[in-house]
Order: sequence, then C-alpha cells, then structure tokens
Amino acid sequence: MKIASRPRVIIRRCPTYDAEQIRRIVREGLEELDLRPHGRTLVKPNCVASGPSFPHAYTRPEFLEGVLRALQDRSDGRVRELALGERCGITLPTRTTFEGAEYYPMLKRTGVKHYHFEEEPQVEIRLTHKERLRDYVFTPEPVAKADFFVNCPKFKSHPWTTVTFSMKNYIGIQDDRHRLIDHDHRLDEKIADLQYIVQPQFIAIDAIVAGEGRMLTPIPRKLGLVIMGNSQAAFDALCCNIIGVDPYTVDHLRLASERGFGSLDLSSLDISGDVTLEEAQAMAKGFKVGLVRVEKYFEGSHITAYAGPPPEPERTDYCWGGCPGALEEAIEILRLYDEQCDEKMPRMHIVFGAYEGKIDAKPGERVVFIGDCATWSGDLHGRLVRVESLYKDRAEKDPYHAKHDDIFAKMVHVMRKFATTDPTEPLRLEGCPVSVAEQVLTLVELGKTKNPYLSPSEAVRFSKGYLGWQGKALMKRISGKPYQIHGPCERGQAAPEVSPPTLPDAE
Ligand code: SF4
Repeated sequence: MKIASRPRVIIRRCPTYDAEQIRRIVREGLEELDLRPHGRTLVKPNCVASGPSFPHAYTRPEFLEGVLRALQDRSDGRVRELALGERCGITLPTRTTFEGAEYYPMLKRTGVKHYHFEEEPQVEIRLTHKERLRDYVFTPEPVAKADFFVNCPKFKSHPWTTVTFSMKNYIGIQDDRHRLIDHDHRLDEKIADLQYIVQPQFIAIDAIVAGEGRMLTPIPRKLGLVIMGNSQAAFDALCCNIIGVDPYTVDHLRLASERGFGSLDLSSLDISGDVTLEEAQAMAKGFKVGLVRVEKYFEGSHITAYAGPPPEPERTDYCWGGCPGALEEAIEILRLYDEQCDEKMPRMHIVFGAYEGKIDAKPGERVVFIGDCATWSGDLHGRLVRVESLYKDRAEKDPYHAKHDDIFAKMVHVMRKFATTDPTEPLRLEGCPVSVAEQVLTLVELGKTKNPYLSPSEAVRFSKGYLGWQGKALMKRISGKPYQIHGPCERGQAAPEVSPPTLPDAE
C-alpha cells in the first residue's frame, strides 16, 4: 500500500463506552475516508496489560466491538478474514490479558477470529533502508499477511517514548524475544524500523478515557474522543498536538516521517469531525506525559537512583528506551499489589549506565547495578569496587537466535541470583534491557513485598493463560511446525511501499 498523500484525521465526540455509538462513529469515519475492509483484515488493539489492576492500560472491548461491527457494516464481500491480534506485555500470556480485558465474549458476540501473536509462526521481514538497525526482523505471520490493517491503540503517555499512539503500538507486533532486541536507548529507531512491516489503512484510537503519565498504570483522563485517520504519521502528529507535544520531539515520529511515512506538519493534514483541534486541545489541557528521569522519579523514596549514559553516548546521555524506565514501571506495579511497598523497601541504591559519580550507600544499604552497560568504579563501604561493562554490540545479536525466558524461568533466575550473591556485595542484573518483569521480581526479593505474579487475584487467570499458551506451543513442536521461519514470507497488501521524501533542490 502507498502512504496517503493527503492525510486526513477525524475528531469525534464520544462521551461513553457505548459500543453502538462507537460503531456509528467509526462507520461514518470509514465512509468519510472512503475505506472498505478487504482480504485479510487485521485489527490491532493495545492490550499491554488488563484486568482490575490495569483498568486504563488497554483499548476497551466496547471500543473494539464498535470498530469490528463498523468494519462488518462496511464489508462489501471482499473480506476473507476479519481478525483481532496482539502480543501483550512480555512474559504475560496474551490469553491472560485478553481474558482480563473481556475480549473473548466480545469476539464471540461479533463472530471475529483472534490471534495471540506469540502462538503464531514468526516470519522474517527484510529491511533495506539505509538507517536500519538490522537487516531483518521477525513478526507474527498474520501481521505480515494482512491486507487491510486497522490500528486501534489507546491514547496514553509513555515513560520511554513520551507517547504511545499509533506507531508505538507496533511494539505489540513482535513476540518477547524479538521485542527485547534494540529495546534500549535506540527504541525510537526500532519503532521507526517496524513501520516497514505493515501500515494501517485505518486508525481509530480509544481516547474516551485516556491514560496520563505512565504506560501500564496510567492516571485516567476522560477526554471523550474517538479519533480516526488514514495516515499513521499525520495521525500521531495530531494526537501530539492535542496534548501540546511537538511531534518532531518524538523521535520515532520524526524518523518515520523523514523516511517517507508521512508528514508531521498539520498544514498538510485535513482535519474534520464534530470537535475542532482547538476544542480537543482544551479538553486535554495539562495532559501529563511520561519522560521523567529515574533519579527524579525516585526522589523522596527509599530508592536512590543514579543514571550514567548508555553506550554510544554521542547519541544520548540517557537510556530512555531501556532499564531505567522499566524500573519506574516495576515500582508502579508493586505499589498496585502491595500498599506497603514503599515502606517495606529498604534503603537501596540502583545504578544504570556508565555512572561516574559517588554512590552514597551507608553500611547495610544494598547497591544494585542494572543492565549490561552499567559500569562504575569507586569506594563502597570502605572497599574498592569495580563494575565492568558486559554490553554486547547490537551487531552481535541475531534475531533468529534470540532466546525467550518465561516468567517461571525468570523467577528461578532471580531467586538463584539472590541465593548466590553475598548480601554485602553489590548485585548485578544482566541483560539489555533488563525487563520490567525481572526488575519487579528483584524488588520483590529486596523489599519482601507481595509478588504480583503469585497474587491470588491473578493466579487463576494467569495459570489458565500460561497453560493454554504452552500447550499450543508444545502441540506445534510435536507436529514439527517451526516457530520461526527464515527467508522471504508472503506479504499482504498492507505492506508499505515507501520511499524517502525528495528534498528540495539545493539550488
Ligand atoms: S543495558 Fe539497559 S540501560 Fe544499558 S543500553 Fe541496554 S537497555 Fe539501556
């Protein structure tokens, strides 16, 4: 598909999660944009986490029901398959988050198929653009084969990328092992690279109740809007404008735009609907976005954080896409499951990157170095301590050989780490990045807080999802079906045809 040359965005008022009202609004949006679903039509929500603990993290089922029914209304018989697919936050089974989000009854009501992306074959997409981080990436087969792709994100802030609108929703088109590759200080470049896999012909964002400040545990903010569009860069640029963020400061948007995925300039965009941009801006006045450095984030708590630059310091002095932001999400998760989390947490010092300053640890206070790139040398409790970098250049990481650790393997790993490390010695967590899950488990051990993964309120749903996922994976292994497929794969019509915009003649 070609990127829309004249992008359009429609802003509509929608005060409640009424599936029939959303259906009408979205159907009118599809009509106005002259779009009809066809071929393999795939809808991608944002369902990073769900259930009573994460009520504002995901695209609501009523919203998706409205979108799916509107697509059915607009079908003229050319739809071969209408499906919804997602890979939720890593280590969780997508089955668990779909159940927590109450997607299954909605899918049954609408008669729509679903994919848990981590249970589908992962196929290879070659990248050839000049600025690529790597030569190929993997994505679930239904994404590669999509003919009509519909992106249905949730309108939220993000601690690593400022916002998570349409483009950032692409993190969910990779399974865990592939998602973690390049999920570091070059995360925005990774998101821009993922744009070459697929492009949505239609975008509808759930901005009825938006999420401020964070990604997994956002503060709800009632906006009462459904925003629709036909060009992802322009769409995200408009959403940025609504909350007062300059889209050119969001690197994945700027990069994608520079590479030909559409303009971020509002003057090249047609805006319509029953809410003007100015009205939408007034509704979102003061919307909080998430870029807070880890040192600031933990000020006033029992944790003192220190962050030095990641590798390639000429690019950035802070790893926005990796370990520090994961620690912020980890503590927020623990606070949800244990009200006494902050009081239970002993005084500790957590260090990221190539930190060169003093670590002000008193005797008995634990020091934790997180991430392969952590380095430090200095005096700790009267002893000289030297922490060396374990960082491997990204060129040494081949997506085909990336490994997946499930949550139980992570639990064993963290417990073994504590059992084998002298409590008076600094603790080192290896990985690039060290995932939110591993940082949650580490804080659980350090603070003796409740473990969210063993929470009685989640245990049944989690176990059911986990066993279903592992059972399906085992059946596929027994039948000899490969999980990853190397080499060229079948692409649907939603694969983008893109070339960088031509620069004005220097003369
Ligand atoms: S180890 Fe962590 S902090 Fe260092 S580059 Fe990787 S993700 Fe960033």
